Amino acid sequence: MSEFSKIYYTNDSPRAKANNTISIRKFNAEFKARNDLQRHLAADNNLLKLYQKQNKLSLEASRQEVYGEAGATIARANADVAYKEYLLYLDSCGIKHDFDKPAYYCTTCNDTGFINNIRCDCFKQLLRDITMDDNPQLNTDIRSFIKLKPPKMLELSTRLNMSEFYEFLNKYSENYSDSQYKIILLTGSPGTGKTFALSVFFNKVIDDDGDILMISAVKLNELFLKTHLAPLESKQEILETIIDCDILIVDDLGMEPFYNNVTAEYLRNLLDLRSHLTTIFSTNLNSEEIRIRYGNSTLSRLYHKSRAHVVDFFNTVDIRTKEATGDIINKKQ
Ligand SMILES: [Zn+2]
Repeated sequence: MSEFSKIYYTNDSPRAKANNTISIRKFNAEFKARNDLQRHLAADNNLLKLYQKQNKLSLEASRQEVYGEAGATIARANADVAYKEYLLYLDSCGIKHDFDKPAYYCTTCNDTGFINNIRCDCFKQLLRDITMDDNPQLNTDIRSFIKLKPPKMLELSTRLNMSEFYEFLNKYSENYSDSQYKIILLTGSPGTGKTFALSVFFNKVIDDDGDILMISAVKLNELFLKTHLAPLESKQEILETIIDCDILIVDDLGMEPFYNNVTAEYLRNLLDLRSHLTTIFSTNLNSEEIRIRYGNSTLSRLYHKSRAHVVDFFNTVDIRTKEATGDIINKKQ
């Protein structure tokens, strides 16, 4: 991997960032603990002697236990006595017994990020936080579609449409790898709650330990441009996470600046590379606008009869417009 893409990775893959943060937490906790121990031992010769004694006896007891030696029980008892002596001395100095134990950020997984090979909640939370930092669009903590109702301010027809979409997403979060749909296209005017629905979906998939990435079209376009300008050998690496993740959500397609030879071309390429994986788009563009901006071949991929699931929220009332109107009325009163 080249330096370029390494830098790129730490900047742009939320999973890499989360992993990185967790290892830094672990390193810091253990470093501080080791440091505290060294500092105390260096300051007090009695403590040093007692510490070394109990350490030595405990190692010896363990060794004898492993080899099943006859003296193992006695060795362990001696080690326990030495350990008690050491603890009593700590008490007399007013030092806590666990002063040399790392104070892990997450005491469930001791900052490993795993419990029995399953991702710890701290990792999932971190992934959500990082994604939220990177994407202000990820706008909710809600992690389940159960009992979730579309915002009341939407018109009834939109609400029904949205309820149906929630149900679809809920099922899809469980069967996306087997589903015939590899493209989910969500079109409609701004403020119909598209990003909200996708954020809940994102949270749910993270909770189920799925490999999902959410990125704004603006950020994705920046990645395309960086790839375009990168040396040939690192082109593929820059987009690796984007190309490989099981589910990619691209929010607000069409909001990105249009770069010739980049925006449309790289998007079409990405769709080809991800043909066996799920890609979800939200956009305010209608099909004609998509055709003009990205070309016929991308349009036909996004609206593919059997592979794409298109949900249309056009001709519905804008939540944000309604909220804004409410604001103005309130301010006038
Ligand atoms: Zn944890």
